[in-house]
Amino acid sequence: MAASEDGTPFWTTKLLDEMTAEEWEALCDGCGRCCLLKLEDEDDGSVHLTRLACGLLDIGKCRCSDYENRHAKMPDCVAIDPVKVKRLAWLPTSCAYRRVAEGRGLAWWHPLISGSPETVHEAGISVRDWSLSETRVSPLDFERFIISDLDDG
Ligand code: SF4
Ligand code: SF4
Repeated sequence: MAASEDGTPFWTTKLLDEMTAEEWEALCDGCGRCCLLKLEDEDDGSVHLTRLACGLLDIGKCRCSDYENRHAKMPDCVAIDPVKVKRLAWLPTSCAYRRVAEGRGLAWWHPLISGSPETVHEAGISVRDWSLSETRVSPLDFERFIISDLDDG
């Protein structure tokens, strides 16, 4: 599935909106960065990233713990699709969908390149080692967890 019938990796020959559902899911690198809370400044509308992870994120695995029901349980969860990839300014530059949409290809640590789901963690791209579940923090303190934008991808 990582390659087309002629052996060419599907993400190098297909546009995002041409991929099958299976290919689309495989393209996610499992970093969990899109599951970090974003805070919007009520005064100027600016959006600030935090190191707080959505309460449904299994931080150890960097996977949603209830992917099927995520929108019912977390109404703010944004389903990423080929159109949104180009519109969501907060989508990290490392995000595989963004990289492919921008013609940058996949990085060495992407599981489809390395063959291992661990490399996204080993490269420090995933949120596994430094995020904190929002469930462990009072909403009144969310602002204390604002971080700089992630730009290492
Ligand atoms: S940021 Fe992109 S690649 Fe990383 S988990 Fe989210 S959708 Fe997947
Ligand atoms: S509901 Fe799941 S997919 Fe959506 S932001 Fe939370 S952990 Fe991520």
